[in-house]
Amino acid sequence: MVPRDIESLCIDKGMRMTGQRRVIARVLSQSEDHPDVEELYRRATKVDANISIATVYRTVRLLEEAGILERHDFRDGRSRYEQATERHHDHLINLETGEVIEFRSEEIEKLQAEIARRYGFKLVDHRLELYGVPLKEGEKKSSR
Ligand SMILES: [Zn+2]
Repeated sequence: MVPRDIESLCIDKGMRMTGQRRVIARVLSQSEDHPDVEELYRRATKVDANISIATVYRTVRLLEEAGILERHDFRDGRSRYEQATERHHDHLINLETGEVIEFRSEEIEKLQAEIARRYGFKLVDHRLELYGVPLKEGEKKSSR
């Protein structure tokens, strides 16, 4: 399923969409990575130079509270944002470059539900972040 654009999700939630909020919403919809506020600010000001970083902060906070954005903390001291999706995924973070790789593993999904069940719970959500450094040439042999 293609996620709906952030702007129309905001309108559905009854948020007042000023021109600047609309620009920020569009920048977010077009982002396929996990930008922090400063990066969003850089992208938004290319469209409208009058947008302040405070407006970007306020807007992402509103969108997060509305459940439209998900906030991540990948241990680099900056909050990163992405559109909340129906299709769940987890993240692998390259500690050398900060690159974030999205993945999904049915085995992990199943195992987590199983662990919750073992403790008498129905799993409703989880977060998983893997932190790694790239393998050196000689370490790459084994299969993925
Ligand atoms: Zn992601």
